Amino acid sequence: MKTGTLNRPILALALLASVTGFADFSISFNFGAGIEESRKTAFYDAAAFWEAHLTGYRYNDPSLNGIVIQAEIAAYDGSGGALGYGAPAAAQFFENITLDGASSAANVAYSTEGYMLFDSEDIDSLIAGGSWETLVRHEVAHALGFGYGWNFETNGITYNEVYALDSGQYTGAGALAAYQSEFDADATFVPVEMSDQIHWDEVDEGIALTGIVDSQGRDMRYELMTGWLNTQEPSFVSNTTLGQFYDLGYTVIPEPSSIGMLALCGVCMHFIRSRFLV
Ligand SMILES: [Zn+2]
Repeated sequence: MKTGTLNRPILALALLASVTGFADFSISFNFGAGIEESRKTAFYDAAAFWEAHLTGYRYNDPSLNGIVIQAEIAAYDGSGGALGYGAPAAAQFFENITLDGASSAANVAYSTEGYMLFDSEDIDSLIAGGSWETLVRHEVAHALGFGYGWNFETNGITYNEVYALDSGQYTGAGALAAYQSEFDADATFVPVEMSDQIHWDEVDEGIALTGIVDSQGRDMRYELMTGWLNTQEPSFVSNTTLGQFYDLGYTVIPEPSSIGMLALCGVCMHFIRSRFLV
């Protein structure tokens, strides 16, 4: 059993209470097939949320000014199963740069274009159950690089070295410091789900609590960036997730711990145990 402590709040805050960013960061969408007008609000809300927490870049380059995400709704795998998909579609690569606030140089890749697909068979039940906004917010995070941007290798060069493949251990300094502050003061890594290695770890299929609990009593099971959508409690976004974006090179504003809960799941009547995937 691990519980959140406040043993290391200063370190976490030093890493998260960001330095002044350079270019502004903004999220925009190209809406493709199936994104009806009534379904767009969730996208705008997701953009507003992430723009409020990722305020800019820790590296100054004129090419960095935000991300454009293509979003579509289409038949995927029938009802249940995979609900949505989000990932970077293009990135800007920088070698041997020193991010603002960093002590040494690194290779950094920023997602500049993203792609998201939502399963048309699941949309109505997600909206009825109050989970549509949660799903969109989750997939936007992937489009920004959560999971997919870890240890990204191309042309023999590795970028964003925060996770060693097959280790199950995320070691980026920003997320780790936040995790130590929020969940486990003695942690040496943030646990990563092994099946696809792009989410924080939780019990397979989300069928049980993880036992990893923050000072507000929130179990990691309900964190937004685990791999399984939960509907019995509102999702929350931890500073561990925001610290991960700091590690990817964004300036970050932490969640105020007292209002971290996202009241997104007002009507959690049914019990979806479906994967966000991937
Ligand atoms: Zn996911």
